[in-house]
Amino acid sequence: MSSRPVLEAVGISKRFAGVYANRDVSIDLHEGELLALIGPNGAGKSTLVNQLAGETASDAGTVAFRGEDITRLKSHARARLGVSRSFQVSALFDGLTVEHNLLLAVQVHEGHSFRFWKAVDRDDGLLEKAHDLARRFDLMDDLPTLAGALAHGEKRQLEVAMALAGDPAVLLLDEPMAGIGPGGSVELTRLLDSLKARHAILLIEHDMDAVFALADRVAVLDGGELIFCGDPQEVRRDEGVRRAYLGDT
Ligand code: ADP
Ligand code: MG
Repeated sequence: MSSRPVLEAVGISKRFAGVYANRDVSIDLHEGELLALIGPNGAGKSTLVNQLAGETASDAGTVAFRGEDITRLKSHARARLGVSRSFQVSALFDGLTVEHNLLLAVQVHEGHSFRFWKAVDRDDGLLEKAHDLARRFDLMDDLPTLAGALAHGEKRQLEVAMALAGDPAVLLLDEPMAGIGPGGSVELTRLLDSLKARHAILLIEHDMDAVFALADRVAVLDGGELIFCGDPQEVRRDEGVRRAYLGDT
């Protein structure tokens, strides 16, 4: 790739109680690309996303955003720069409406200091941005619905919508399609495809149909090590990847 990466990690590692969750991983993400991150359970994928998002401090290595070192920045500071993420485990406020969830996400990404949430829905600017997101994600009819009452697929949709508040340059998505069934996956695949032009996306995903439909490049983590990063067509042919992940012996 010739363009400068929008996000670049060099030699990052993370240990838990002395055991490496991932080790010496170098990975970059470019403008307009979707990079799929695959690998067996426990490979260190979620930990890597946490390190990129700034939720987990790395034990070694550096992370840069558009060439600027952000290794020591916490997640909220990275989010303000334009590095946003969704969680593998739902991070919605189940007891609040869809509208309030969106409002809170917009408020966080606006860089406001946290305000008492009841005041949030009286801010027209925030409300307009929240409704914009709802429109893009087909959630207008669900605005008054409690997030906890949404169908699983709609929850995942809302989570991606919340991650997009603030129009981030980088979107880190940890298994957004988990458990939503084939129909939901097709819909979310279409949605992610439409987001590629505006956001560089790192997508952790097990559904290989979605991976091959969306990915410009594929990275493979196995036992905490990056064993492949490159062309999606080549990943099918790579011996190490087949042994580790695609089920061949
Ligand atoms: P993946 O997302 O690829 O399934 P994870 O990054 O969740 O993998 O986990 C990688 C390894 O790190 C696993 O062995 C897991 O048990 C361990 N691990 C992850 N998070 C923690 C944590 N907070 N404390 C201790 N060990 C953890
Ligand atoms: Mg995970």
